[in-house]
Amino acid sequence: MPFYKDVKELTLKLVGIPSMNNSAGETILAEAIAEYLRKIDYFKQHPDYVWEVPLKDDLYGRKNVFALIKGQKGNSSRTVILHGHIDTVGVDDFGILKEYAFDPAALKRKLKDVNLPPEVKQDLDSGEWIFGRGVTDMKSGVAAHMVVIKEISKMARELEGNILFMANPVEENQHTGIIEALPALQELQEKYGLEYVVAINNDYISPLYNGDKKKYIYMGAVGKLLPCFYIVGRETHVGQCYEGLDPNLIAAELLKSINLNADLCDQYKGEYTLPPTALKLTDLKPAYNVQTPLASFLYFNYFTHDIPVDKVLEMMKEKAYEAFVRVINFLDHEYQKYCKFLGQNYQPLSWKPKVITYKELYDDVKQQVGPALDHKISQLVKEMLASGTDTRLICLKVVEEVKSLSGDKDPVVVIFFAPPYCPHNTVKGESARGREVMQVIKDVIEEMSAATGEEFEIRQFFPSLSDSSYLKIDDPDESINALINNFPEWENVYPVPVKKIRQLNIPAINFGAYGKDAHKWTERLNKKYTFSVLPRMTILAIDKFLHS
Ligand SMILES: [Zn+2]
Repeated sequence: MPFYKDVKELTLKLVGIPSMNNSAGETILAEAIAEYLRKIDYFKQHPDYVWEVPLKDDLYGRKNVFALIKGQKGNSSRTVILHGHIDTVGVDDFGILKEYAFDPAALKRKLKDVNLPPEVKQDLDSGEWIFGRGVTDMKSGVAAHMVVIKEISKMARELEGNILFMANPVEENQHTGIIEALPALQELQEKYGLEYVVAINNDYISPLYNGDKKKYIYMGAVGKLLPCFYIVGRETHVGQCYEGLDPNLIAAELLKSINLNADLCDQYKGEYTLPPTALKLTDLKPAYNVQTPLASFLYFNYFTHDIPVDKVLEMMKEKAYEAFVRVINFLDHEYQKYCKFLGQNYQPLSWKPKVITYKELYDDVKQQVGPALDHKISQLVKEMLASGTDTRLICLKVVEEVKSLSGDKDPVVVIFFAPPYCPHNTVKGESARGREVMQVIKDVIEEMSAATGEEFEIRQFFPSLSDSSYLKIDDPDESINALINNFPEWENVYPVPVKKIRQLNIPAINFGAYGKDAHKWTERLNKKYTFSVLPRMTILAIDKFLHS
């Protein structure tokens, strides 16, 4: 099988260099990748076409690696980007097998003695899969791209157009690698007059249901928002419990109405996201006493395919208002009952539901406090960034600070956004470029299907978060404004370069290493598809993209 041996060997080499997110391993792996590329004859002749760009102020000296093949036939500006991330998640999930996580051969021997779920056991015994951390997410994907680069570099003389390879760190949390690669992409565009036709990512693909044998080609990436709720109630002593308003009650109502609510799944052309999922719910009481909590905090993972941020905000406001009303009605009802037990005179409780956005809070306080407000906030944020505070907490602290400066002491729900924000994008049929990309993908899978017997399906969105999010942005300006205006300290906390992404506007598709159980200790990779079908398909796609 063409490419099989090369991709396999390189995959094992890359897997053998641990590169867990937030470690110096990411740097070591980047250097190994650059070294591999520099040994290719083409790059020996063109040493300037492999280079590394360190991330700004990075604790581990992590870097992006680039390699450019400039076709020597004609002077086509058409350029295909091949990219992938080089970090992996940690290995704690491997438990006592941890020390074998980066050694697929040893891990395979050890797994023979482990009680495995039936499907995993079957895959292990079949010999068609290899196990290990990063095998599928996504070192084999990077290896396949590198072998494609090596292959195409041999034909640079006959190549019309260009190939740009990019290996990026820090994907598994903040996507800093790809975000910092954007200025480099723009510089290259200007320096060499490149026209980016498409970017092909190789992040992992998996079966979508039991027994699913199809291989998916994704024409874009799901987006993600993190809507947050800061809920201020009114504290009281447990001895006078009906005099207070417990923010946890509002939080609980809100959790129940949003969490896993399938009506809130976003969809585009019949493709649905997963529903919003709660990632945090806590009150903000620091220690035990008999006072009820004053405030609570919750946030949701909110996947997007199409819905603009202003609409999400509107919907969250509505949900919060309804939850607030339900809590007031409940309290009033219980209080009335309690008064009846005691034969006491009942006076209706006087709570008023109030839900505001961060922008409304900020504008109001800014009017009262003036420019001193911004100074105060930036001082606070600077200190928290320097001390490595979680960015969600930084945003919360800003909201707390602004709220504390407002004269209003009434209970309220404040809605805001916090990191990360991943733009959603997909290839649509409305533009000439979009139609061209769709046609090429269709032609590619038709040919590959005939040649290999694989069954393919094209989908609009890669379902997990990926670096492809940052190459194209479908959110319109009003949507972005709603996000930035309600995102405390966007510029300092999570400045996604929206303008750059819009200018670059690169259709971001995903082919992908084929595996199962990414991010689990049973992570495994299908050898035949990934080592042989995938690189062949990539070469075919490059040929079509450069000549369509
Ligand atoms: Zn990945």
